[in-house]
Amino acid sequence: MRIKTLILGAGAAGMMCAAHAGGDCLVVDHAKAPGEKIRISGGGRCNFTNIYAAPENYISQNPHFCKSALARYTQWDFIELVSRHGIQWHEKTLGQLFCDDSAKQIVAMLVQELRHAGADLWLQTSVTEVRHGADGFTLRLEREGKPVTVTAQNLVLATGGKSIPKMGATGLAYEIAQQFGLPLIAPRPGLVPFTFGEDRFKPLAGVALPARLSNARASFDEALLFTHRGLSGPSVLQLSSYWQDGEEIRAHLLPDLDLFTALRDQRQQSGRKALTNELARHLPARLVDYLAADWQITGRLADQSDAALQALCERLHNWSLKPSGTEGYRTAEVTLGGIDTDALSSRTLAAKSTPGLYAIGEAVDVTGWLGGYNFQWAWASGHAAGTAIRG
Ligand SMILES: Cc1cc2nc3c(=O)[nH]c(=O)nc-3n(C[C@H](O)[C@H](O)[C@H](O)COP(=O)(O)OP(=O)(O)OC[C@H]3O[C@@H](n4cnc5c(N)ncnc54)[C@H](O)[C@@H]3O)c2cc1C
Repeated sequence: MRIKTLILGAGAAGMMCAAHAGGDCLVVDHAKAPGEKIRISGGGRCNFTNIYAAPENYISQNPHFCKSALARYTQWDFIELVSRHGIQWHEKTLGQLFCDDSAKQIVAMLVQELRHAGADLWLQTSVTEVRHGADGFTLRLEREGKPVTVTAQNLVLATGGKSIPKMGATGLAYEIAQQFGLPLIAPRPGLVPFTFGEDRFKPLAGVALPARLSNARASFDEALLFTHRGLSGPSVLQLSSYWQDGEEIRAHLLPDLDLFTALRDQRQQSGRKALTNELARHLPARLVDYLAADWQITGRLADQSDAALQALCERLHNWSLKPSGTEGYRTAEVTLGGIDTDALSSRTLAAKSTPGLYAIGEAVDVTGWLGGYNFQWAWASGHAAGTAIRG
Protein backbone atom coordinates (compact mmCIF):
# COMPACT_ATOMS: atom_id res chain seq x y z
CA MET A 1 0.00 0.00 0.00
CA ARG A 2 1.29 3.46 -0.97
CA ILE A 3 0.20 6.71 0.64
CA LYS A 4 1.42 10.26 0.93
CA THR A 5 1.54 10.53 4.71
CA LEU A 6 1.78 8.04 7.55
CA ILE A 7 1.32 9.39 11.05
CA LEU A 8 2.39 7.20 13.98
CA GLY A 9 0.20 7.93 17.02
CA ALA A 10 -3.48 8.90 17.16
CA GLY A 11 -3.03 11.19 20.14
CA ALA A 12 -3.49 14.93 20.39
CA ALA A 13 -0.69 15.91 18.00
CA GLY A 14 -1.12 13.07 15.49
CA MET A 15 -4.85 13.66 15.00
CA MET A 16 -4.36 17.42 14.71
CA CYS A 17 -1.66 16.85 12.08
CA ALA A 18 -3.95 14.51 10.11
CA ALA A 19 -6.72 17.12 10.18
CA HIS A 20 -4.41 19.54 8.33
CA ALA A 21 -2.25 17.23 6.20
CA GLY A 22 -4.60 17.33 3.21
CA GLY A 23 -5.73 13.74 2.63
CA ASP A 24 -4.04 10.55 1.42
CA CYS A 25 -3.04 10.16 5.01
CA LEU A 26 -3.14 7.24 7.43
CA VAL A 27 -2.91 7.50 11.23
CA VAL A 28 -1.95 4.33 13.10
CA ASP A 29 -2.01 3.62 16.82
CA HIS A 30 -1.51 0.48 18.87
CA ALA A 31 -4.27 1.41 21.30
CA LYS A 32 -7.89 0.27 21.05
CA ALA A 33 -9.15 3.86 20.96
CA PRO A 34 -7.68 7.15 19.75
CA GLY A 35 -6.74 10.00 22.11
CA GLU A 36 -6.73 8.03 25.33
CA LYS A 37 -4.73 10.69 27.20
CA ILE A 38 -7.17 13.33 26.05
CA ARG A 39 -10.04 11.21 27.36
CA ILE A 40 -8.60 10.94 30.89
CA SER A 41 -7.09 14.43 31.01
CA GLY A 42 -8.32 17.16 33.30
CA GLY A 43 -10.26 14.68 35.44
CA GLY A 44 -12.27 13.63 32.35
CA ARG A 45 -12.98 17.21 31.26
CA CYS A 46 -9.70 17.92 29.36
CA ASN A 47 -7.90 21.15 30.10
CA PHE A 48 -7.55 21.65 26.36
CA THR A 49 -5.68 24.97 26.31
CA ASN A 50 -4.74 28.02 28.35
CA ILE A 51 -5.73 31.54 27.42
CA TYR A 52 -2.31 32.79 28.58
CA ALA A 53 -0.27 30.21 26.63
CA ALA A 54 3.02 31.79 25.51
CA PRO A 55 6.55 30.50 24.77
CA GLU A 56 7.57 31.35 28.38
CA ASN A 57 5.37 28.48 29.60
CA TYR A 58 7.50 25.85 27.88
CA ILE A 59 10.72 24.08 28.86
CA SER A 60 13.19 23.19 26.11
CA GLN A 61 16.93 23.26 25.51
CA ASN A 62 16.06 25.90 22.92
CA PRO A 63 13.37 28.16 24.43
CA HIS A 64 12.86 29.91 21.06
CA PHE A 65 11.99 26.75 19.14
CA CYS A 66 8.29 26.58 20.11
CA LYS A 67 7.59 30.22 19.14
CA SER A 68 6.89 29.75 15.46
CA ALA A 69 4.35 26.92 15.76
CA LEU A 70 2.62 28.49 18.79
CA ALA A 71 2.28 31.80 16.94
CA ARG A 72 0.75 30.21 13.85
CA TYR A 73 -1.81 28.08 15.73
CA THR A 74 -2.81 29.84 18.94
CA GLN A 75 -5.12 29.02 21.83
CA TRP A 76 -7.70 31.25 20.10
CA ASP A 77 -7.58 29.04 17.00
CA PHE A 78 -8.28 25.97 19.10
CA ILE A 79 -11.03 27.74 21.06
CA GLU A 80 -12.62 28.65 17.72
CA LEU A 81 -12.46 24.99 16.62
CA VAL A 82 -13.99 23.75 19.88
CA SER A 83 -16.75 26.36 19.70
CA ARG A 84 -17.45 25.53 16.03
CA HIS A 85 -18.09 21.94 17.13
CA GLY A 86 -20.60 23.18 19.71
CA ILE A 87 -18.48 22.03 22.67
CA GLN A 88 -19.29 24.09 25.75
CA TRP A 89 -16.32 25.12 27.87
CA HIS A 90 -15.38 27.25 30.85
CA GLU A 91 -12.30 28.78 32.48
CA LYS A 92 -11.53 27.02 35.74
CA THR A 93 -8.59 28.99 37.09
CA LEU A 94 -5.42 30.71 35.84
CA GLY A 95 -6.64 30.74 32.23
CA GLN A 96 -7.20 26.96 32.13
CA LEU A 97 -10.05 26.01 29.78
CA PHE A 98 -12.04 22.81 30.35
CA CYS A 99 -14.99 21.14 28.62
CA ASP A 100 -18.25 21.64 30.52
CA ASP A 101 -19.26 18.04 29.82
CA SER A 102 -16.59 15.56 28.75
CA ALA A 103 -13.10 15.19 27.30
CA LYS A 104 -14.60 12.60 24.94
CA GLN A 105 -16.05 15.53 22.99
CA ILE A 106 -12.51 16.68 22.13
CA VAL A 107 -11.56 13.17 20.95
CA ALA A 108 -14.74 12.93 18.85
CA MET A 109 -14.05 16.37 17.39
CA LEU A 110 -10.52 15.41 16.33
CA VAL A 111 -11.65 12.11 14.79
CA GLN A 112 -14.34 13.99 12.87
CA GLU A 113 -11.79 16.59 11.71
CA LEU A 114 -9.28 14.01 10.50
CA ARG A 115 -11.95 12.00 8.67
CA HIS A 116 -13.30 15.19 7.11
CA ALA A 117 -9.76 15.93 5.84
CA GLY A 118 -9.75 12.49 4.17
CA ALA A 119 -7.42 10.69 6.57
CA ASP A 120 -7.85 7.07 7.64
CA LEU A 121 -7.36 5.74 11.16
CA TRP A 122 -6.07 2.26 12.03
CA LEU A 123 -6.20 1.24 15.67
CA GLN A 124 -4.61 -1.81 17.31
CA THR A 125 -1.77 -1.47 14.83
CA SER A 126 1.86 -1.76 15.85
CA VAL A 127 5.08 -0.93 14.04
CA THR A 128 7.53 -3.75 13.51
CA GLU A 129 10.04 -2.19 11.10
CA VAL A 130 10.86 1.20 9.57
CA ARG A 131 13.02 1.53 6.46
CA HIS A 132 13.87 4.49 4.29
CA GLY A 133 14.82 4.39 0.62
CA ALA A 134 14.40 6.17 -2.69
CA ASP A 135 10.62 5.63 -2.66
CA GLY A 136 10.12 6.98 0.85
CA PHE A 137 9.46 5.33 4.20
CA THR A 138 8.45 1.68 4.21
CA LEU A 139 6.91 0.43 7.43
CA ARG A 140 5.97 -3.07 8.37
CA LEU A 141 2.90 -2.88 10.53
CA GLU A 142 0.85 -5.44 12.33
CA ARG A 143 -2.83 -4.55 12.11
CA GLU A 144 -5.03 -6.57 14.44
CA GLY A 145 -2.46 -9.38 14.24
CA LYS A 146 -1.99 -9.31 10.44
CA PRO A 147 1.16 -7.97 8.71
CA VAL A 148 0.73 -4.99 6.36
CA THR A 149 3.44 -3.03 4.52
CA VAL A 150 2.87 0.68 3.94
CA THR A 151 5.11 3.01 1.94
CA ALA A 152 4.72 6.73 2.56
CA GLN A 153 6.35 9.88 1.26
CA ASN A 154 6.05 11.50 4.71
CA LEU A 155 6.43 9.87 8.12
CA VAL A 156 5.25 11.78 11.20
CA LEU A 157 6.41 10.68 14.66
CA ALA A 158 3.55 11.50 17.04
CA THR A 159 3.70 8.68 19.58
CA GLY A 160 4.30 11.02 22.54
CA GLY A 161 6.59 10.45 25.50
CA LYS A 162 7.08 7.70 28.06
CA SER A 163 4.64 8.92 30.70
CA ILE A 164 2.08 6.42 31.98
CA PRO A 165 3.23 3.19 30.29
CA LYS A 166 0.01 1.55 31.57
CA MET A 167 -1.85 3.71 29.05
CA GLY A 168 0.33 2.48 26.20
CA ALA A 169 3.11 5.09 26.25
CA THR A 170 6.31 3.83 24.61
CA GLY A 171 9.61 5.27 23.49
CA LEU A 172 8.88 4.46 19.82
CA ALA A 173 9.33 8.04 18.58
CA TYR A 174 12.75 8.20 20.28
CA GLU A 175 13.81 4.86 18.78
CA ILE A 176 12.84 5.86 15.23
CA ALA A 177 14.42 9.30 15.70
CA GLN A 178 17.68 7.62 16.72
CA GLN A 179 17.46 5.24 13.76
CA PHE A 180 17.54 8.37 11.56
CA GLY A 181 20.36 9.97 13.52
CA LEU A 182 18.25 12.61 15.31
CA PRO A 183 19.79 13.30 18.73
CA LEU A 184 17.76 13.07 21.95
CA ILE A 185 17.71 15.24 25.04
CA ALA A 186 17.58 12.62 27.81
CA PRO A 187 13.87 12.02 28.54
CA ARG A 188 12.74 12.24 32.18
CA PRO A 189 9.41 12.44 34.02
CA GLY A 190 7.82 15.90 34.43
CA LEU A 191 4.70 17.23 36.19
CA VAL A 192 5.17 14.45 38.72
CA PRO A 193 4.72 14.17 42.54
CA PHE A 194 7.80 14.17 44.78
CA THR A 195 8.51 11.23 47.06
CA PHE A 196 10.15 11.40 50.50
CA GLY A 197 11.68 8.50 52.40
CA GLU A 198 10.44 6.92 55.61
CA ASP A 199 6.77 7.82 55.15
CA ARG A 200 7.72 11.34 56.18
CA PHE A 201 4.40 12.98 55.33
CA LYS A 202 2.12 9.98 55.81
CA PRO A 203 0.32 11.55 58.81
CA LEU A 204 -0.50 14.55 56.60
CA ALA A 205 -1.92 12.62 53.63
CA GLY A 206 -4.80 14.59 52.17
CA VAL A 207 -3.86 17.96 53.72
CA ALA A 208 -3.79 20.81 51.17
CA LEU A 209 -2.95 24.50 51.43
CA PRO A 210 -1.76 27.40 49.26
CA ALA A 211 2.03 27.55 48.94
CA ARG A 212 4.88 28.95 46.91
CA LEU A 213 7.20 26.12 45.85
CA SER A 214 10.55 27.17 44.51
CA ASN A 215 14.11 26.25 43.69
CA ALA A 216 16.93 28.21 42.08
CA ARG A 217 15.27 28.11 38.65
CA ALA A 218 11.53 28.47 39.16
CA SER A 219 8.75 29.38 41.58
CA PHE A 220 5.04 28.52 41.50
CA ASP A 221 2.18 29.80 43.68
CA GLU A 222 -0.51 27.14 43.67
CA ALA A 223 -1.94 24.47 45.96
CA LEU A 224 0.37 22.06 47.78
CA LEU A 225 -0.98 18.60 48.69
CA PHE A 226 0.55 16.12 51.12
CA THR A 227 0.24 12.47 50.07
CA HIS A 228 1.04 9.09 51.60
CA ARG A 229 4.31 9.03 49.67
CA GLY A 230 5.28 12.71 49.60
CA LEU A 231 4.11 15.94 48.01
CA SER A 232 1.79 16.65 45.12
CA GLY A 233 -0.64 19.36 44.03
CA PRO A 234 -0.22 21.88 41.21
CA SER A 235 2.68 23.86 42.76
CA VAL A 236 4.65 20.64 43.28
CA LEU A 237 3.93 19.21 39.83
CA GLN A 238 4.99 22.48 38.23
CA LEU A 239 8.26 22.64 40.18
CA SER A 240 9.04 18.98 39.48
CA SER A 241 9.66 19.88 35.83
CA TYR A 242 12.48 22.20 36.98
CA TRP A 243 13.91 19.84 39.62
CA GLN A 244 17.16 17.94 39.50
CA ASP A 245 17.94 14.79 41.47
CA GLY A 246 19.23 15.45 44.98
CA GLU A 247 18.20 19.11 44.99
CA GLU A 248 16.46 20.87 47.88
CA ILE A 249 13.23 22.78 47.32
CA ARG A 250 11.65 25.52 49.43
CA ALA A 251 8.03 25.76 50.48
CA HIS A 252 6.61 29.16 51.46
CA LEU A 253 3.37 28.29 53.25
CA LEU A 254 0.58 30.87 52.97
CA PRO A 255 2.43 33.23 50.61
CA ASP A 256 -0.51 35.65 50.45
CA LEU A 257 -0.82 36.20 54.19
CA ASP A 258 1.20 38.52 56.44
CA LEU A 259 1.39 35.87 59.15
CA PHE A 260 3.73 37.78 61.44
CA THR A 261 1.34 40.74 61.68
CA ALA A 262 -1.61 38.38 62.19
CA LEU A 263 0.18 36.57 65.07
CA ARG A 264 1.42 39.79 66.67
CA ASP A 265 -2.07 41.32 66.58
CA GLN A 266 -3.57 38.23 68.17
CA ARG A 267 -0.89 38.23 70.86
CA GLN A 268 -2.15 41.67 71.88
CA GLN A 269 -5.82 40.67 71.80
CA SER A 270 -5.71 37.07 73.12
CA GLY A 271 -2.34 36.54 74.73
CA ARG A 272 -3.54 33.49 76.69
CA LYS A 273 -4.34 31.58 73.52
CA ALA A 274 -2.01 28.69 72.64
CA LEU A 275 0.25 29.56 69.71
CA THR A 276 -0.73 26.31 67.96
CA ASN A 277 -4.44 27.22 68.21
CA GLU A 278 -3.77 30.55 66.59
CA LEU A 279 -1.68 28.91 63.84
CA ALA A 280 -4.54 26.49 63.20
CA ARG A 281 -6.73 29.48 62.24
CA HIS A 282 -4.46 29.96 59.21
CA LEU A 283 -2.98 26.52 58.52
CA PRO A 284 -4.68 23.09 58.43
CA ALA A 285 -4.89 21.74 62.01
CA ARG A 286 -3.17 18.45 61.11
CA LEU A 287 -0.23 20.35 59.66
CA VAL A 288 0.02 22.49 62.80
CA ASP A 289 0.09 19.35 64.98
CA TYR A 290 2.77 17.83 62.76
CA LEU A 291 4.95 20.95 62.76
CA ALA A 292 4.41 21.54 66.49
CA ALA A 293 5.86 18.08 67.20
CA ASP A 294 8.69 18.45 64.69
CA TRP A 295 9.70 22.05 65.47
CA GLN A 296 8.71 22.10 69.17
CA ILE A 297 6.10 24.84 68.82
CA THR A 298 4.72 25.36 72.32
CA GLY A 299 3.42 28.01 74.71
CA ARG A 300 0.88 30.79 74.70
CA LEU A 301 0.92 33.72 72.32
CA ALA A 302 1.92 36.03 75.19
CA ASP A 303 5.07 33.90 75.73
CA GLN A 304 6.36 34.68 72.23
CA SER A 305 8.74 37.57 71.60
CA ASP A 306 8.65 39.39 68.27
CA ALA A 307 11.89 37.64 67.40
CA ALA A 308 10.41 34.22 68.22
CA LEU A 309 7.31 34.91 66.07
CA GLN A 310 9.51 36.18 63.28
CA ALA A 311 11.71 33.09 63.44
CA LEU A 312 8.64 30.85 63.26
CA CYS A 313 7.23 32.78 60.28
CA GLU A 314 10.62 32.55 58.59
CA ARG A 315 10.53 28.76 58.96
CA LEU A 316 7.02 28.61 57.53
CA HIS A 317 8.06 30.86 54.65
CA ASN A 318 11.26 29.06 53.88
CA TRP A 319 10.66 25.41 54.68
CA SER A 320 13.52 23.54 53.12
CA LEU A 321 12.68 20.06 51.87
CA LYS A 322 14.73 17.44 50.07
CA PRO A 323 12.70 15.01 47.97
CA SER A 324 14.20 11.54 47.68
CA GLY A 325 12.85 11.29 44.13
CA THR A 326 9.68 11.43 42.08
CA GLU A 327 6.86 8.99 41.32
CA GLY A 328 8.45 8.54 37.88
CA TYR A 329 6.77 7.74 34.59
CA ARG A 330 4.08 5.76 36.40
CA THR A 331 2.21 8.96 37.26
CA ALA A 332 4.10 11.75 35.43
CA GLU A 333 1.79 13.84 33.24
CA VAL A 334 4.51 14.54 30.72
CA THR A 335 7.98 13.54 29.59
CA LEU A 336 10.63 16.25 29.62
CA GLY A 337 13.35 16.13 26.98
CA GLY A 338 12.90 14.10 23.80
CA ILE A 339 13.88 14.67 20.19
CA ASP A 340 16.42 17.51 20.11
CA THR A 341 14.88 20.60 18.50
CA ASP A 342 18.24 21.38 16.86
CA ALA A 343 17.50 18.54 14.45
CA LEU A 344 14.09 19.96 13.45
CA SER A 345 12.73 22.96 11.57
CA SER A 346 10.78 25.19 14.00
CA ARG A 347 8.41 26.19 11.17
CA THR A 348 7.49 22.72 9.88
CA LEU A 349 8.75 20.29 12.56
CA ALA A 350 10.50 18.43 9.73
CA ALA A 351 13.83 16.70 10.38
CA LYS A 352 16.59 18.75 8.80
CA SER A 353 18.57 15.67 7.79
CA THR A 354 15.82 13.39 6.40
CA PRO A 355 13.29 14.93 3.99
CA GLY A 356 9.73 13.78 4.73
CA LEU A 357 10.38 12.86 8.37
CA TYR A 358 8.52 14.94 11.01
CA ALA A 359 8.30 14.85 14.82
CA ILE A 360 5.51 16.57 16.78
CA GLY A 361 3.90 16.78 20.22
CA GLU A 362 5.39 15.43 23.41
CA ALA A 363 8.01 13.36 21.57
CA VAL A 364 9.87 16.63 20.88
CA ASP A 365 11.96 18.43 23.51
CA VAL A 366 9.23 21.00 24.26
CA THR A 367 7.32 20.54 27.52
CA GLY A 368 4.59 22.79 28.83
CA TRP A 369 3.58 23.79 32.32
CA LEU A 370 0.55 22.26 33.97
CA GLY A 371 -2.66 23.98 32.85
CA GLY A 372 -3.48 23.19 29.21
CA TYR A 373 -0.08 24.17 27.82
CA ASN A 374 0.89 20.66 26.73
CA PHE A 375 -2.20 20.18 24.62
CA GLN A 376 -1.65 23.63 23.09
CA TRP A 377 1.82 22.48 22.01
CA ALA A 378 0.34 19.24 20.59
CA TRP A 379 -2.26 21.23 18.59
CA ALA A 380 0.28 23.83 17.39
CA SER A 381 3.04 21.40 16.42
CA GLY A 382 0.52 19.05 14.76
CA HIS A 383 -0.89 21.96 12.78
CA ALA A 384 2.61 23.15 11.76
CA ALA A 385 3.61 19.75 10.37
CA GLY A 386 0.19 19.12 8.83
CA THR A 387 0.08 22.40 6.91
CA ALA A 388 3.68 21.91 5.75
CA ILE A 389 2.80 18.46 4.41
CA ARG A 390 -0.33 19.78 2.69
CA GLY A 391 1.94 22.35 1.00
C1 LIG B 1 -3.18 11.85 33.39
C2 LIG B 1 -2.80 12.94 32.42
C3 LIG B 1 -3.55 14.10 32.38
C4 LIG B 1 -3.18 15.13 31.51
N1 LIG B 1 -3.94 16.26 31.49
C5 LIG B 1 -3.60 17.26 30.65
C6 LIG B 1 -4.42 18.42 30.55
O1 LIG B 1 -5.51 18.49 31.16
N2 LIG B 1 -3.99 19.43 29.74
C7 LIG B 1 -2.83 19.35 29.01
O2 LIG B 1 -2.49 20.29 28.30
N3 LIG B 1 -2.06 18.24 29.05
C8 LIG B 1 -2.43 17.20 29.83
N4 LIG B 1 -1.67 16.07 29.87
C9 LIG B 1 -0.51 15.97 28.94
C10 LIG B 1 -1.04 15.62 27.55
O3 LIG B 1 -1.91 14.50 27.63
C11 LIG B 1 0.11 15.28 26.59
O4 LIG B 1 1.08 16.27 26.64
C12 LIG B 1 -0.41 15.14 25.17
O5 LIG B 1 -1.37 14.11 25.10
C13 LIG B 1 0.73 14.86 24.20
O6 LIG B 1 0.18 14.65 22.93
P1 LIG B 1 0.91 13.67 21.89
O7 LIG B 1 -0.04 13.55 20.75
O8 LIG B 1 2.28 14.12 21.65
O9 LIG B 1 0.99 12.28 22.65
P2 LIG B 1 -0.19 11.34 23.16
O10 LIG B 1 -1.45 12.11 23.32
O11 LIG B 1 0.37 10.59 24.31
O12 LIG B 1 -0.44 10.33 21.94
C14 LIG B 1 0.50 9.37 21.56
C15 LIG B 1 -0.25 8.24 20.87
O13 LIG B 1 0.72 7.33 20.35
C16 LIG B 1 0.32 6.01 20.64
N5 LIG B 1 1.52 5.17 20.73
C17 LIG B 1 2.49 5.23 21.67
N6 LIG B 1 3.43 4.29 21.41
C18 LIG B 1 3.03 3.62 20.29
C19 LIG B 1 3.57 2.55 19.57
N7 LIG B 1 4.73 1.97 19.94
N8 LIG B 1 2.90 2.13 18.47
C20 LIG B 1 1.73 2.71 18.09
N9 LIG B 1 1.16 3.74 18.75
C21 LIG B 1 1.82 4.19 19.85
C22 LIG B 1 -0.44 6.10 21.95
O14 LIG B 1 -1.35 5.03 22.09
C23 LIG B 1 -1.14 7.47 21.81
O15 LIG B 1 -2.43 7.35 21.27
C24 LIG B 1 -2.03 15.00 30.69
C25 LIG B 1 -1.29 13.82 30.72
C26 LIG B 1 -1.67 12.79 31.58
C27 LIG B 1 -0.87 11.53 31.58
